[in-house]
Amino acid sequence: MTEQKTEGIAERCRRVAEGIRAAERAAGRAEGSVRLLAVGKTFPAEAVLECARSGQRAFGENYAQEGCGKVDWFRENHPELARELEWHFIGRLQANKTRMVAERFDWVESVDRLKTAERLSAQRPEGMAPLQLLIEVNVDSEGTKAGVEPRAVEPLAQAIAALPRVRLRGLMAIPMPGMGEIGRCSSLRRLKRLFDGLREKHPEWTDFDTLSMGMSSDATDAVTAGTTEVRIGRAIFGERTYNR
Ligand SMILES: *Cc1c(COP(=O)(O)O)cnc(C)c1O
Repeated sequence: MTEQKTEGIAERCRRVAEGIRAAERAAGRAEGSVRLLAVGKTFPAEAVLECARSGQRAFGENYAQEGCGKVDWFRENHPELARELEWHFIGRLQANKTRMVAERFDWVESVDRLKTAERLSAQRPEGMAPLQLLIEVNVDSEGTKAGVEPRAVEPLAQAIAALPRVRLRGLMAIPMPGMGEIGRCSSLRRLKRLFDGLREKHPEWTDFDTLSMGMSSDATDAVTAGTTEVRIGRAIFGERTYNR
């Protein structure tokens, strides 16, 4: 990676962060009410470092091995900065990878079955802060996609809320790609309604405060719809190539 390209990442990250602040203002929302998660999947740890140097602190990763490698790289090479970073796992999590994630990440946003939450709970080391969990919702009820059907969210959430060493923090969704703006906004609003309904019904879930929806293509719409976190990859790191 050339120096010029890594400089571009810090600038783009700053610009994306400013865009989110502007979207908050336009939607009449409090400044800083939306967290920016910078999604560095397929990009090397050095690219994430450039982004961190612009002030960004929360990072998302999709692949267990790659993500854990980056967490370890920061601890070894930039131990002081590493203590300030927050790592969110947002991809599919196979049973044989839950332990490495439970030992390194701060959040897992892609929980869609109780078994995964139980493994993470059992494998989260005692000395660490609780692992923060989001339930991934299949908001458009796509047959093939990951995530829990909207009506199955509440029973799963109730079971997760009872587990030790994990904390249920809210919901995450990836709206179906290729929908027009109207369809997309309707998905975002449906997820927000589900989130608000659960919060109202379950005040005992005291930390249920996080709604993760919105990516490079629909971040502004998601802020308008009431998201509390957007996950941005391409707009910060550039286009991905998957021939890893
Ligand atoms: C890759 C990915 C993102 C980021 O998507 P961009 O289109 O690159 O912004 C967000 N969320 C999830 C779950 C992802 O896999």
